[in-house]
Amino acid sequence: MTEPKPFSPRTLAAQAMGRIDETTRAIVPPIHLATTFERDPDNLYRSGNVYGRPDNDTVRDAEAVIGALEGATATLVYGSGMSAAIALFLSLGPGAHVAASTGMYWALRAWLADEAPAFGISVDFVDTEDLATLERAIKAGSTRLVWIETPSNPLWSVSDIEGAARIAHGAGAALAVDSTCATPIFTRPIALGADVVMHSATKYLNGHSDVIAGALCFARDDALSARARHIRHKHGLILHPFEAFLLTRGLRTLDLRVRAASGNAMELANRLSNHAAVSAVLYPGLPHHPGHDVARRQMRGGFGGMLSIRVRGGADAAITAAARVRLWKRATSLGGVESLIEHRASIEGAGTPCPPDLLRLSAGVEDVEDLWRDIDEALSG
Ligand code: PLP
Repeated sequence: MTEPKPFSPRTLAAQAMGRIDETTRAIVPPIHLATTFERDPDNLYRSGNVYGRPDNDTVRDAEAVIGALEGATATLVYGSGMSAAIALFLSLGPGAHVAASTGMYWALRAWLADEAPAFGISVDFVDTEDLATLERAIKAGSTRLVWIETPSNPLWSVSDIEGAARIAHGAGAALAVDSTCATPIFTRPIALGADVVMHSATKYLNGHSDVIAGALCFARDDALSARARHIRHKHGLILHPFEAFLLTRGLRTLDLRVRAASGNAMELANRLSNHAAVSAVLYPGLPHHPGHDVARRQMRGGFGGMLSIRVRGGADAAITAAARVRLWKRATSLGGVESLIEHRASIEGAGTPCPPDLLRLSAGVEDVEDLWRDIDEALSG
C-alpha cells in the first residue's frame, strides 16, 4: 500500500492538525487552564503534565500547528517574540559570539547591543544581505549563531537563507531566522538550511492584533532546543493557555490572510511607485528592490504584506500624511487583518537607522481599492 500524500500546510492549519477532543468529540479542542496536574497513586506523572509553567496541552496544540507549518522537529511557544528570541540567545551561554543582521527589529537589536554583553554574549551587526560581509564577520571558534531577519524591518531587505546557512555551518555555528514577516506560507527556512526559525507570533501567526506571543522552531531536537526549553521553564516564559488557544484559532486562517495581505501589498507597492508624493517604495516584490532576486528564489507564492514608503518632503510630510488617514490605523505592530501605518522613526527613537521620511505599511486584508483611496488621499493632502 502506498503512503497517503501528506496534507498541505493550508489544510493542516485549517483543521489545527485535525485533532478531535477524545472526551467530548469536540472538533475544537478545549482550553486547559489548570496550573497543576494530579500525580498517579504510584507516584508517577504518566499524563506528561506536572505543572503549568513547563506543561500545557493548549500551548502544545499551537506548537503542533506552527511546527508542522515550519517543518520543525521541536517547537516552543513563548509569551512574546522578544522572550522567544532572548531565550535562544541565552541558550548559547557565556562566551558565545553572534553575527546578526544590521537591519532587524529595533527592540531586539537594542537588547543585543545593550543587554546581551552582560550575559557574556558578544554581538556584531553586519549587512547579512551581502554574504561576503557576513563571512568576514564570523569569528572562528567563537561564533555560535548567525541571526538574520528576512525580509527585515523596516527596509524589507532580504538575506539569502541558503547562503547564510552555508557560511554558519562552515564555521560550526547555527543559523537562526526571524521569519515573522515572511511567514511559513511564503518561506520555510528549515528546508533552506536554517537550524532555528523564530516568530513574533503576535504578528501574522495570530493575525488579529489581540495576542502577544512568540515561537522558536528547531530543525532538530538537540542540546540547543533542550536549553531553550529549560530557559522557558526556569524563566517562566510560557504563553498563557487562553492566548495559546487564540493563537491556534488565528493559525487556522493563516494561509488565507497572508495571501490576501500580500496581494494587497503588491498592488499598493505598484501604485505607490507612481505616486507624486512618494520618493521610494521598499518592497521585495518590486523588480528594482535590491533583494528581489533572492526573494524570488526563497519566497514562494508572495512577498509578504509589509512595505515602506519614503515621503517627499521629509519627516514632517510623512507624519502629516499619516495623520490624514481615515481607514488605515495609525499604530505600531504588523501582520493583523487590519491595515496599519506608522512613522517608524518616531517609535524607534534617537539613533535609529530608519530614514526620517519613512512610513511603514502593514497591509491588511481589506478591499485594496478602499486602502488605496485612503492612502492616496492622505499622501495627496
Ligand atoms: N521580530 C519582529 C520582526 C517583530 O516585528 C517583532 C515585534 O514587532 C518582534 C520580533 C518582537 O515580537 P513581540 O512584540 O511579539 O515580542
